[in-house]
Amino acid sequence: MTKTLNVGSLKIDIDETPGLASYRMCGNVDESFKQNEIPRIKAQTINLDLEGLTNFNSCGIREWVFLIKDLTKYGQLRFKKCSIAMVDQLNMVPESIGNGVVDSFYAPYACETHGESEHLIDVNSSSADLHSHVAPEKNCATCNTPLIFDAMVDSYFLFLSPIASKPQKAS
Ligand SMILES: [Zn+2]
Repeated sequence: MTKTLNVGSLKIDIDETPGLASYRMCGNVDESFKQNEIPRIKAQTINLDLEGLTNFNSCGIREWVFLIKDLTKYGQLRFKKCSIAMVDQLNMVPESIGNGVVDSFYAPYACETHGESEHLIDVNSSSADLHSHVAPEKNCATCNTPLIFDAMVDSYFLFLSPIASKPQKAS
């Protein structure tokens, strides 16, 4: 059963199965976002599906940091399909990930003929590239030629750096 609610400019779908809580968020994280309106679910794993987050402003990110800090008490946070807007925040505001782990995220690529496109990067399967700060290879969906990574590699992958050095804490 999916429960849907609106919090400010966000639409949030919540699913709960034994051991797993999933929050799927779509929209803007702005001054209308009130983190305490989001129901807390205690679960071993808490998935945050963040593909639909389109924009953050400074009020929104402050609330977001509170949300992440608090949700951390309820289970292991896993960030999935982070939008480019989310990745920008992860890079600028390290507290926006808390103790969470990023499983996958979108990155900007470009084809000389067909323009810009966003591609999903899986952190586990691309870990060798990511740890050496190399953009994983992607091909254009239209002409299949290799795409150009359309951001600064070092700054876009910055949020991944702590993963290599973060001690695996048993809790
Ligand atoms: Zn192309």
